[in-house]
Amino acid sequence: MSSFCSNCARTMGFEEPDIDIEEIASTQLNGYYVDELCEGCGVIGIGKDENGVIIIIEEDGSNAPWDPEEDRELKCRLKNNYNEQEIN
Ligand SMILES: [Zn+2]
Repeated sequence: MSSFCSNCARTMGFEEPDIDIEEIASTQLNGYYVDELCEGCGVIGIGKDENGVIIIIEEDGSNAPWDPEEDRELKCRLKNNYNEQEIN
């Protein structure tokens, strides 16, 4: 079974995300996150910062405010391609 976040579900044409980022974040207290794994973009955590801004935890451990319009699946593919070029 595959799980895709709100951003990936939209870019892939699915009607309902398996991982509804906004809904999941709404259940978190400020400053906390929950583990979620999206198979499209590799998001591993969803939460809120101290100010209540929705935060995405990335595979590499970095985090950034959630952009609902971002094509995260494309971003992930580009990042992986760049990594391949660096190895070569
Ligand atoms: Zn995703």
